[in-house]
Amino acid sequence: MACVFCGIVEGNVPATKVYEDDQVVAFPDLNPQAPTHVLVIPKRHISSLMGLEAEQDLLAVHRAVRNLAESLGLWPDGFRLVINSGPQGGQTVHHLHFHLLGGRFMKWPPG
Ligand code: AMP
Ligand code: ZN
Repeated sequence: MACVFCGIVEGNVPATKVYEDDQVVAFPDLNPQAPTHVLVIPKRHISSLMGLEAEQDLLAVHRAVRNLAESLGLWPDGFRLVINSGPQGGQTVHHLHFHLLGGRFMKWPPG
């Protein structure tokens, strides 16, 4: 089954890339849940957080998030980084992605 996020990495599915390096790409979520809602993904296909093994992927995502938090003006106000994992975690796209949410106060506990 074709992976929509691999399609974005390859340029076959349209998305506005707000960050890109050799390992990571970020683009706005189609269904935003906050004034800023960006998905940060490793370019390599990893189906969920449980499939992540290479530390370099996590470091690359962290570098991208720090960069985006500054460039999108989310810091120092703050932001939330969410990884929905598995059915009960609410994961619907099976290519590891980090939701970067900001621009409003976040509630706790999450729904
Ligand atoms: P999750 O439910 O954590 O797996 O998140 C998947 C997210 O991907 C949802 O918030 C969707 O709105 C978003 N999404 C799905 N397809 C696309 C797409 N083509 N471009 C941007 N965001 C997408
Ligand atoms: Zn994929």
